[in-house]
Amino acid sequence: MSQEVLRHLVMLGPPGSGKGTQATILSEKLGINAISTGSLLRHEAESGSKEGEKIKKLIDKGNLVPDTIMINIMKQTLLKPENLKGYILDGSPRSVPQAKALDKMLASRQMKKLGQALDAVLYLQVPDDYVIERIIGRFQCANCKTLYHERFKPTKVFGICDVCEHKEFIRREDDTYETVVSRLRNFREITAPLVPYYEKRGLLRCVDGTGPIDVVSEKIRKIVGY
Ligand code: AMP
Repeated sequence: MSQEVLRHLVMLGPPGSGKGTQATILSEKLGINAISTGSLLRHEAESGSKEGEKIKKLIDKGNLVPDTIMINIMKQTLLKPENLKGYILDGSPRSVPQAKALDKMLASRQMKKLGQALDAVLYLQVPDDYVIERIIGRFQCANCKTLYHERFKPTKVFGICDVCEHKEFIRREDDTYETVVSRLRNFREITAPLVPYYEKRGLLRCVDGTGPIDVVSEKIRKIVGY
């Protein structure tokens, strides 16, 4: 009997574990949206709004944005019509209160009726030294936002984006050594308790995230069943 394709997913893992890259691949394969709360927050941070300024300060220091804000973002995003055929939450929930709020949201009559219950939490496991090397070397196209890495995924032609041929690249402001150390500490203290949380609910699927991108995505493909 063939496995049903999983379409309601959470990507969990330390910063630099490849959540964004793998969520993008999954999104293309499954035809559903990858919802990166980090990208949504960076967008708000650049908007110049008062809330955006506060968010920017937190992100730039490698701190987490308050749960109340994140819970609101998850609620608004999951209810958007374009996300009703499935979702890949990349970077949320990132704390036990956020996970509990997500559970509550998904258990509501409306979400149940829409068949939005979580199918699996993909936990990308990567040791700290990998994470630091991955984050410090990463950059993206300023135009189409395709992600690259100096060592692991350089552009095919130096200085030219493979996808849109743009010649300008950017790095995230929070991708500095100091910030990564603080993001890793936050992961251990605030986010890692989600591992036993989802394990108890039978939703946790561990994936070794240390290999090349296509090796990791193949492991994920087998779990998700596409
Ligand atoms: P990411 O792009 O997932 O690495 O997220 C970048 C930054 O956005 C994080 O370091 C946090 O400051 C913030 N952020 C993203 N998602 C969350 C979340 N669910 N809870 C709290 N902060 C978040």
